[in-house]
Amino acid sequence: MNSLAPSRFRQTKIVATLGPATSTPAKIRALHDGGANVFRMNFSHGSHADHAARIQLVREIERDTGRPIAIMADLQGPKLRLATFATGGVDLVPGQAFRLDLSMAPGDATRVGMPHAEIFAALEPGADLLLDDGRVRLTVVACSADHADTRVVSGNRLSDRKGVNVPGVVLPVSPLTPKDLADLAFALDQGVDWVALSFVQRPSDVEEARGLIAGRAALLSKMEKPQAIEHLDAIVALSDGVMVARGDLGVEVPPEDVPSIQKRIILSARRAGKPVIVATQMLESMVTAPAPTRAEASDVATAIFDGADAIMLSAETASGAYPLESVAIMDRIARKVESDPMYRTMLDNQHAKPDETSADAIAAAARQVSETVDAAAIVTYTSSGATALRAARERPAAPILCLTPSVATSRRMAMAYGVHAVVSQDVRNVADMVCEAMIQARALDLGDDGAQLVITAGEPFGRPGTTNLLRIARIEGVTAQPRAA
Ligand code: PGA
Ligand code: MN
Repeated sequence: MNSLAPSRFRQTKIVATLGPATSTPAKIRALHDGGANVFRMNFSHGSHADHAARIQLVREIERDTGRPIAIMADLQGPKLRLATFATGGVDLVPGQAFRLDLSMAPGDATRVGMPHAEIFAALEPGADLLLDDGRVRLTVVACSADHADTRVVSGNRLSDRKGVNVPGVVLPVSPLTPKDLADLAFALDQGVDWVALSFVQRPSDVEEARGLIAGRAALLSKMEKPQAIEHLDAIVALSDGVMVARGDLGVEVPPEDVPSIQKRIILSARRAGKPVIVATQMLESMVTAPAPTRAEASDVATAIFDGADAIMLSAETASGAYPLESVAIMDRIARKVESDPMYRTMLDNQHAKPDETSADAIAAAARQVSETVDAAAIVTYTSSGATALRAARERPAAPILCLTPSVATSRRMAMAYGVHAVVSQDVRNVADMVCEAMIQARALDLGDDGAQLVITAGEPFGRPGTTNLLRIARIEGVTAQPRAA
């Protein structure tokens, strides 16, 4: 085997959203066994009791298999919505006048309520409002503190509680609504590993959430507002990961802009060494069909060729008719792309230079050495996961075995490119370090007797932030018995 040969271990991770279609122990287990690495709880839907039950089922699978699984709580955020109409909906004619206001009176063909005073404060004549995922477009003609007079640009039907997007206008709203604060407290109490923040607009939004989370979970910023893209690097720097949230992003910007923005976000995250997920409509037609369109297969492949850490399923697994098939096909596409020689070439073309730190020097060296000796794995000792993420930033061909004493770290790492984490005891010296690495690599079946491992760690042992050691070791005389962690 040479170092371009595909790993048996899929490097790109799969995020599966749980929902009504996937709430039984058997269904969630099948998603896991089919290749889902991260389970997403979408707090736009479902009750706390629903989410708690699913979280418990995921943790049972984790106990059963002994493999860490990440759980992501995706907060709804300030999703703006219209109020209701007297008749459930109205027909609009392009060119007609239509008023949005703060009145709670049922809407009609001339007006409807939009119970968000802060939007009226931020609107200006000429601004566009997109309703119902962009199906209806209104242009603001005149506005005041409690209403906006608009003209219908396109669209012909508007019904109760449709979503409102205001592209290009920075809204004076926090990304955390009262509902989000309650959901966040619940999710942290449930011990989720990642919290996803919707409709991030500015770096200070991320700081606000980070203050509230206070290290109890990793923080993922969803990139779905054009104004956030303007502060992309700053938001990435403040986040533990980012999501290319193409659903709302694709409403806020023209569709032709989405592919370039996707590539920019992935590059920015890869440079920073933060996990990046490509999300939404990846296999959309599989909500109702057992096989994807060829264009969808190509879209999934593109995200992988771009070097994303993870690809995500939303309605496909939460409410679709073919959740298991969706994961299975994603898994097959990922494995196929990862075994394509062009994949390594493309990843290498976008390879991020190491920062001038000893940790990055070791990470870059580990990658090089692993290719030279055709290592079965790169083994990182890390308590926070930082070293494993720096190794993942190198996008090595070899899988990364992350050994950590922290259960929380092991779970968070399920999102990261090529990282397979194991909770293992702290080591005290180099002999211990090599021995434990061999045992865990054998236990995970990463390599047989005779396979090479490239091991990184920090000396003195047990002190975080000291990665300064690289060791090559050959697996020898180890039986495939995992040592109790
Ligand atoms: P959502 O986020 O599904 O929670 O809206 C993803 C997206 O907008 O793409
Ligand atoms: Mn969204």
